[in-house]
Amino acid sequence: MTRFVFVTGGVVSSLGKGIASAALAALLQARGHTVRMRKLDPYLNVDPGTMSPYQHGEVFITDDGAETDLDLGHYERFTGVHARRSDNATTGRIYSDVIARERRGDYLGATVQVIPHITDAIKEAIVSDTDGYDFVLVEIGGTVGDIESLPFLEAIRQLRNDLGHDQTMCVHLTLLPYIPSAGELKTKPTQHSVKELQNVGLQPQILLCRCDRPIPQTERQKIANFCNVRPEAVIAAPDVDTIYACPITYHQQGMDREVLRYFGLPHETSPDLSRWEKIVRAVREPKGEVRIAVVGKYTALLDSYKSLAEALLHGGIAQDVRVRMNWIDSEELEKDGKIEEHLRGMDGILVPGGFGERGSEGKINAVRYARENNIPFLGICFGMQMAVIECARTLAGLKNASSTEFGPTDEPLVGLMTEWARGTELLRRREGGDLGGTMRVGAYPAKLAENSRVAQVYGKTDIRERHRHRWEVNVHYREVLEKTSLRFSGMSPDGVLPEVVEYPDHPWFIGVQYHPELLSKPFDPHPLFSGFVGAAKQESQNRK
Ligand code: GLN
Repeated sequence: MTRFVFVTGGVVSSLGKGIASAALAALLQARGHTVRMRKLDPYLNVDPGTMSPYQHGEVFITDDGAETDLDLGHYERFTGVHARRSDNATTGRIYSDVIARERRGDYLGATVQVIPHITDAIKEAIVSDTDGYDFVLVEIGGTVGDIESLPFLEAIRQLRNDLGHDQTMCVHLTLLPYIPSAGELKTKPTQHSVKELQNVGLQPQILLCRCDRPIPQTERQKIANFCNVRPEAVIAAPDVDTIYACPITYHQQGMDREVLRYFGLPHETSPDLSRWEKIVRAVREPKGEVRIAVVGKYTALLDSYKSLAEALLHGGIAQDVRVRMNWIDSEELEKDGKIEEHLRGMDGILVPGGFGERGSEGKINAVRYARENNIPFLGICFGMQMAVIECARTLAGLKNASSTEFGPTDEPLVGLMTEWARGTELLRRREGGDLGGTMRVGAYPAKLAENSRVAQVYGKTDIRERHRHRWEVNVHYREVLEKTSLRFSGMSPDGVLPEVVEYPDHPWFIGVQYHPELLSKPFDPHPLFSGFVGAAKQESQNRK
């Protein structure tokens, strides 16, 4: 029997519903249950793929090529369970499916309405593709009381009747603000928020209360009375110094026990949380520190680089160091004298993914600085493309080297496959022949060259990594570039698409066309990040 746990949020946004859901899933896993996690987002975009990173933060990519909400990244990092396309649905997706069915005539002349057609489609999205899991945790984006989340809450209300209360439960995340003048944690916002849920027919069974101090017994009892839950089901979610402490703190507060108790499952024994204890210890008590410059263009909203920041932290766990991240706006590095000022003393330089020309010259400057000063360098996606352009311009003498992403150029080092492989055997050799010109999203295999640094880092030559980009490094320039010291050390299995470049004569310089940060886990740091942070650690020791 698959049990469904719905997680809603109230009072304010940004309480960390995604992390709370993921931490609960990790606890259920630690107790031997299988879990699957999904997110329902009430906005009208069909997926977040077209949204600005400033609006929405990072777009998380699944193996099967879906562009999804960044919370799916938390789910994967806490559970290790790889998400699928079916694990993220938005109002836009639901409506477009229902409207497409209506156009096809599937509703046989019925009036198509929010209830039952939209709610049915939501219920379908919740239960589809969940066979065989003990628990499915479903997070509802937004805050209760929002007009746009109503159809989702209604669908959950119906589903609780359809499946039965013994197979479904609701967890509600709220905030208990501390008011200094009153010297108290205030419960009223929580009461109001639960009332909103009750108005639409939903009674939460567990309240997870964000707070910056312990909840006194009297307040706990008050919340229980007013919100119609057991006092034991009022769980404190205290602020933590690292998100990876959440499974431990939630367990200490009795969260997993309450969930299992509700479903009538064994809950008296304690789960083995040593995995999380080890991670937390490594984060809290590192043996040293490295400084990494991340030269990006969305640095004003660090959620745009969520997985990247986590992966760097994981690299630090692997190397037993704290990774201090210096987020640098790449446009800064286009100003006189700023390169040295920003990058001097860095133990590693990372140029992450990005879109569009703005800031690209600054990224190219950062690449050059890392290459010429022998500073460990990791280029990701756009970062690899800029590394190739830098090589072409500075070492291969192709002054006009550029990417067609920035407009027409006579040296298209980076281009769409439809541009640089049009009508050639290369493009025909690609499965289907029409990959160019559209986004390459999802997991793809690659072959690493024997004896390359990247193969040494992975400890193997066959890899599979997640991509999200339209442009590709133009393989026609391989020969010219390899006449310099650059190596194309990873290619798509058919030899058409450059996936990894490196300088063997540099202490550690690797550029990858894919996004390794999407696969890193705190309990299984990605080899490229542990390798990069390891090289940075070496660099910081050399400097001493
Ligand atoms: N803008 C580049 C492309 O589409 C890189 C994308 C990225 O870094 N994710 O190819």
